[in-house]
Amino acid sequence: MPWRPGTDLRALLELAAPSGCGGCEARGSRWCPACDAVLRATPPRRWWPTPTPPGMPPTWAGPAYQGVVRAAVVAWKESDRVDLTHPLSTVLTAAVSAALLGSPEHRAALAAGRPVPVVPAPSARSSTRARGRAPVRELARTALGPGVVVDALLLGRPVHDQAGLSAAERARNLAGALTVRAPLRTGLRDLPCVVVDDVVTTGSTLAECARALSQAGSGPVVAAVVAATARHPTGPLPPVVGAD
Ligand SMILES: [Zn+2]
Repeated sequence: MPWRPGTDLRALLELAAPSGCGGCEARGSRWCPACDAVLRATPPRRWWPTPTPPGMPPTWAGPAYQGVVRAAVVAWKESDRVDLTHPLSTVLTAAVSAALLGSPEHRAALAAGRPVPVVPAPSARSSTRARGRAPVRELARTALGPGVVVDALLLGRPVHDQAGLSAAERARNLAGALTVRAPLRTGLRDLPCVVVDDVVTTGSTLAECARALSQAGSGPVVAAVVAATARHPTGPLPPVVGAD
C-alpha cells in the first residue's frame, strides 16, 4: 500500500495518542459538548452508600458513575488521559463548594479566615502508583489551586487494589492503612478538612481518610468526589455530625 503522508501520519499519531472524546470516543474532540453536558447535569448532592461504613464523613458527589462519566474517569485514571483532568476538576470544584456550604464548622472556619485544607485520598491502585502518578492530587490542584491542597495522607502499609473487592473486603483492606505525614500533623490540628477523591463506591476509602485525619487531631472532616456509584441509596439518612 502506498504511503500517504498526510492521512497515514495522522493515523499513526492517533494510535500513539488517541484523539477521540474521552467519554464517547467520538472523533474530532478530546472531550465533546454532549459528554460535558452529561458530566455537569447533576448538581453536587449529599450521597451515602447503603450500608454506610462507620466513620464515613458527610459526602457530596456529582453525577452517577456510569456511561460517559465512568468512561471519562477510567480513561483519565487508567489510560493517562491527563487532558480530562480539567473537565473532571470543574465537577470537583462544585462538589467541594457544596461540601463547604453544607457543613457549619467548615463555613465558620472560612468566615473566620481559618484555613480549610483539601486533602486528596491516596490511590490504592498499584497500577497508578507504579506509574508515579497521583491523579487525585493533580485533580484537586486543578480544581482548587495548589495553595489549599495538602497532600497529608499516605499509605502506611501495602493494600490490595480495591477494584473487585466486596464492600466488607474493601473496608478490611483499608482499615488502619492510611496515616498522616508526620511533618503535617501539627499543621492540621483542629482544622476542618475536606477529603477529595474521584469516585465513591462503598465509602470505605473516605471513612479511612477521615479516621486517619481525626486520629491525627484534625477538626471535622467532610468529603467531596466527582462521581458516585449508581446504586441509589434506599436507607434513611445516617446520623451525621457536622452537616445540616
Ligand atoms: Zn463525547
